[in-house]
Amino acid sequence: MTNNQKLSNLGTSDQDNSQGQLFVVATPIGNLEDITQRALNVLQSVDIIAAEDTRHTNKLLSHFSIKAKVIAVHDHNEKQKASELLGWLEQGLNVALVSDAGTPLISDPGYAVVNLCREQGASVSPIPGACAAIAAVSCSGLPTDRFQFIGFTPAKSKARQEFFVDAHNSGMTSIMYESTHRIMASLEDLKAALGDEQKVVLAKELTKSFETFFSGTVLELIAFLIEDPARQKGEIVLMLPGKQVSKSEVSPEAIKLIELLQSEMPLKKACGIAADYFNLKKNALYKAMLEQE
Ligand code: SAM
Repeated sequence: MTNNQKLSNLGTSDQDNSQGQLFVVATPIGNLEDITQRALNVLQSVDIIAAEDTRHTNKLLSHFSIKAKVIAVHDHNEKQKASELLGWLEQGLNVALVSDAGTPLISDPGYAVVNLCREQGASVSPIPGACAAIAAVSCSGLPTDRFQFIGFTPAKSKARQEFFVDAHNSGMTSIMYESTHRIMASLEDLKAALGDEQKVVLAKELTKSFETFFSGTVLELIAFLIEDPARQKGEIVLMLPGKQVSKSEVSPEAIKLIELLQSEMPLKKACGIAADYFNLKKNALYKAMLEQE
């Protein structure tokens, strides 16, 4: 059986076998048992694995006794490698794209490759699995009906404060990645931007032995991390609930417009129009209007 036939048997493609496929393969974010059976099958079957760090990926492959040709595709050579990789697909070779941990492209390399492959009509297929942002928010206790992933916090203090204010004002849960050496400075900025009592959730070392969730005010979180500096170490996801608007904060003009519109349309639609008119967040306005007097 050829590699293409094996991959078709995985249910990944019904495309013409003369073209190869690009698989974007998620790998574990800590616990190796989180690799999926499909990911193992694909990594075993493809002709080439394009990895963010070949040494890192080779360790993962050797753990699962997979022998493969692994080439480096990282932030510094990605644009140039993308066309080479497209060439392999056109020759009928199958390629798996992996990063060091979790889902490629999610604060990880891979965008230039996937973008070029899509533009050129190559087949790109996800092999889903671990992603720290999704793992963190799913257990955060914060609203998940609407949320945004906004990558790493900026490096500079002023930009970081603006970033936190924008995240909060979005009205929805925000998920961010944070590095261990910046967490304390970041939390100081969060406190300066949104106040001591701002609620935050920190998720650390997910799927590993010292997995930790902390939920409380930013002041409490700072105290928790200072109490034992070892708690500042490790991989961190920070989450912020969106700002909620109470009905008493909505201007009388906006309420009047919503009430007028409501005789002709549902409340949600009326809030959408009023939000556009008064430059407000539609969802926050709708939630506020649902409040009992
Ligand atoms: N592509 C990865 C994903 O799907 O989650 C993210 C890669 S990004 C370069 C690395 C950042 O992800 C870390 O600095 C941390 O913020 C977060 N992260 C990765 N693994 C984590 C884990 N086990 N626990 C908490 N956060 C993690």
